Amino acid sequence: MSRRPPRRSAARRRTARPDRRRLRAAARLFLAATGERDLRRDMRRTPERVAEAWATDILSGYAADPARILATGFVSRDRGMVVVRDIPFVSVCVHHLLPFYGVAHVGYLPGRRIVGLSKITRVVDALSRRLQLQERLTRQVGEALAAALAPAGTACRMEAEHLCMTIRGARKRGTRVVTTAWGGAFEGRPALRGEFLRLTSPVERPR
Ligand code: ZN
Repeated sequence: MSRRPPRRSAARRRTARPDRRRLRAAARLFLAATGERDLRRDMRRTPERVAEAWATDILSGYAADPARILATGFVSRDRGMVVVRDIPFVSVCVHHLLPFYGVAHVGYLPGRRIVGLSKITRVVDALSRRLQLQERLTRQVGEALAAALAPAGTACRMEAEHLCMTIRGARKRGTRVVTTAWGGAFEGRPALRGEFLRLTSPVERPR
């Protein structure tokens, strides 16, 4: 009788953390592979710095759980669209391990519960500080809100510049990638989507 290895539960996946020791070893190998010799003295502590930056900042989102962040909402009778716009974020593309960064606009139509606005910015942080694809990240932000708040609808739009497009490959500086994800009422109602896009379009500032 063959025994299957136990499946990793969702809870366990959530608690997965970057392994600092292995990040440090990987950085050491990476540096050796570049062939750089002249800067050896200067790069002595680089593996440690790289491991520190990736473990505590760049990939810190793996230690955060959006469901927990959104767990402290409160009951409200307000049903108007809530939009938090221009939330800055930095993420890392899973294909090239290069940063992409820009702004996220997040909206929802409350059901019975609403949540503090800073919680929404923290969810964007939790999900962006991981290896990501922008399309997936955009969808995950909406899904996190949908799962935690059972809103009538969710909307997320992200605009970002990808270093893998600007310092390699096409090398087109200033190119921005825009992704959207709609949930619930936003899916079926173009007027709602239009309202969200209007509220999150670039602000005309008086000169
Ligand atoms: Zn990339």
